[in-house]
Amino acid sequence: MTTQSLKAEVAAFEAEAKVLNDRLADLDLAGRLALVAGLAGRAVFTTSLGIEDQVITAAIGGDHLDIQVATLKTGRLFNETVALIDKTEETYGILIKRYYPEKADIDAYVAQHGMNGFYESVEARHACCGVRKLKPLARALDGASYWITGLRRGQSGNRATTPFAEADAERGLIKINPLADWDIETIQAHVAAEGIPVNPLHSRGYPSIGCEPCTRAIKPGEPERAGRWWWENDEKRECGLHVPEAASSIIPNASNAA
Ligand code: SF4
Repeated sequence: MTTQSLKAEVAAFEAEAKVLNDRLADLDLAGRLALVAGLAGRAVFTTSLGIEDQVITAAIGGDHLDIQVATLKTGRLFNETVALIDKTEETYGILIKRYYPEKADIDAYVAQHGMNGFYESVEARHACCGVRKLKPLARALDGASYWITGLRRGQSGNRATTPFAEADAERGLIKINPLADWDIETIQAHVAAEGIPVNPLHSRGYPSIGCEPCTRAIKPGEPERAGRWWWENDEKRECGLHVPEAASSIIPNASNAA
């Protein structure tokens, strides 16, 4: 693909995302999800079984929407999270499709870094997330046009400007964040009112839950995601799922393109 056609493709994604963003802004959660389910192209919702994701799963299951629900079984999840996958399927009568890392990738990682090598350096941690999360995510999103997530603006400073829809040109899809404008109090009230099953770890000081060795409980007053990869200093640390490469890495000389 030429640089010119890449630029045109990115521009088309961004234009579609902007239109969708404006339409989604005027709707409630059910309306947002129904709109995406009705679009041409496959929609995939990836759930970590966190409280936000449970709200979305409940809405998808309750309204029988044509949205595939998927999760990344990294092999390092909390037992509570694994148990919640089954419970959520039973509650809503849906299938949560599991995506696993490749054994060969895990073997290679362990041979090079050790099973818990992610504590040794940011690079080793990103390598682990790459093998256990990013590669399975790529399979989950293969062929999808829309990727629904539970991102919220209040989760961290890094997510403070999360839109309802954004172009993910690297993955060739539009990312939909239907809870972008919900705060944690609204989420908790909704879960209580609707009887939505949630991870018991939330009530033990874990507002954000990832892999067990990389998540700790937070102290009162700490940011919601302070317990994720807590040993790293970078305030904006993420696993890479929601940090696509900058346009400049997709389009050669993008910074000069006008
Ligand atoms: S969160 Fe931790 S255990 Fe999970 S994939 Fe990333 S580095 Fe590996």
